[in-house]
Amino acid sequence: MTLITTPYWWDGAAELPAPCERAPERVEVAVVGGGFTGLSAALTAVEKGAQVAVFDALQPGQGASTRNGGMIGAPHRPELARELETYGRDFAGRLVREGVEGFEYTRALHEAADVYQPTGRVMMAYTRAQQEKLKRQADLLNGLSDQGIEVLSADEMRAHVRSETHFGGIYFPRHGAVQPRLAHDAMKARAMAAGVEICAECGVHGITPEGDGFRLSTEKGSTWARRVVWAGNGYTGRVMPWLARRIFRIPSFIIATEELAPGVIDRLAPGRRMMVETRARHSYFRPSPDGKRILFGGRAALVPISHEEAAKRLQRTMTEIWPEAAEWKLTHSWQGFVGFTFALTPHVGSHEGVHFAYGYCGNGVALSPWLGRKAALRAMGDSEGATAFAEMPVQSRFYHWGGWPWFMHLASPWWRFVVDSREMAQARRDRAG
Ligand SMILES: Cc1cc2nc3c(=O)[nH]c(=O)nc-3n(C[C@H](O)[C@H](O)[C@H](O)COP(=O)(O)OP(=O)(O)OC[C@H]3O[C@@H](n4cnc5c(N)ncnc54)[C@H](O)[C@@H]3O)c2cc1C
Repeated sequence: MTLITTPYWWDGAAELPAPCERAPERVEVAVVGGGFTGLSAALTAVEKGAQVAVFDALQPGQGASTRNGGMIGAPHRPELARELETYGRDFAGRLVREGVEGFEYTRALHEAADVYQPTGRVMMAYTRAQQEKLKRQADLLNGLSDQGIEVLSADEMRAHVRSETHFGGIYFPRHGAVQPRLAHDAMKARAMAAGVEICAECGVHGITPEGDGFRLSTEKGSTWARRVVWAGNGYTGRVMPWLARRIFRIPSFIIATEELAPGVIDRLAPGRRMMVETRARHSYFRPSPDGKRILFGGRAALVPISHEEAAKRLQRTMTEIWPEAAEWKLTHSWQGFVGFTFALTPHVGSHEGVHFAYGYCGNGVALSPWLGRKAALRAMGDSEGATAFAEMPVQSRFYHWGGWPWFMHLASPWWRFVVDSREMAQARRDRAG
């Protein structure tokens, strides 16, 4: 089987801009990273009247922003109970409500560009205990914000996903989907039309204070900028050593099936929802926008592995959900890096004058444009930049020095052979009993 190792979303996509030949000498706002966070920061700064350039080591979007599953919704992440314990009800409530506000902002952005699909999302409980946890989660979230989350029994879940492996779950009726490459292309076109200079394939190697701004040394010459917004997220390297110690990357993997026979998706995923599971494999799956294929993602490992191995592992999981998936041919297998914070909550802030937004922990399609905007507003000293996501202490760990997160090589086998096996055994016991 020959697999295409670039995202399914890139097939037949518009041409990319030519690489930058020479970095601009001087800009008012330099944004490093051209994913959703960076483009939104740039659009915000230009809207406020600044002259802006976006620098990306790759083509903008070729980080996580055009590799993801395209699932979009609030809140920022599902472990609300932990946030309640850490921050208390008032502050956790602010995080949840701002998550919803951020999602609404991003949804409006994508609706205006005609790239948003209102699909709803189900979260499927893999064990009975996880179903109980989801019920509590739905109660908490509905108590803190108006999201209309519904608890589903196993039978009710089957109206959305036909599978015998789950004990019900919850349904987020307001969640939706984008084709991420189209969504990113639309944002990029808007930014360029507004006058943002896109410096593609122009990595930034250093940022040092100079005068009342910063000197950026790049692959294509140096630039002086009055203000800098860092939007490198899961691709952040040692150029920002302070930040690099406060973010770590985890790969996420996706496969695309061949076009399935007519009727198969209607039978197996009659709701045509965005679908995610509670188990540690963190599977997320969906029909392709044309409804002909299944795109199936998950943590096939916590460290990069070959596209072939990732495809094998993901197809095995997909087959547990739908046994007939064993026969499906795959066309694509790709991966990208997700940026995590140690608090497992996104963060906005600044260090030595450089502003940033990052760490969406795998749930950034909704929040990255919102928090990129906040980072730009804060860089420009605008009071609208206030956000609950800037109020938490940003955490580091003594064992993470900012390079490759070596500890993931220890966590990966433990997670696969202990956590995952335990969860599977529990699910078997639950099904038997
Ligand atoms: C496979 C996968 C599936 C996912 N699925 C979902 C999903 O379904 N729903 C969801 O909500 N989230 C999902 N996510 C997460 C989501 O894609 C991200 O949270 C979001 O795209 C983050 O956007 P960003 O702009 O912050 O980062 P990115 O898009 O990663 O952009 C960072 C950019 O910074 C650039 N950069 C870094 N360092 C430098 C430097 N020194 N110089 C110049 N440029 C630099 C990189 O080249 C990169 O382009 C997924 C992620 C992956 C990888």
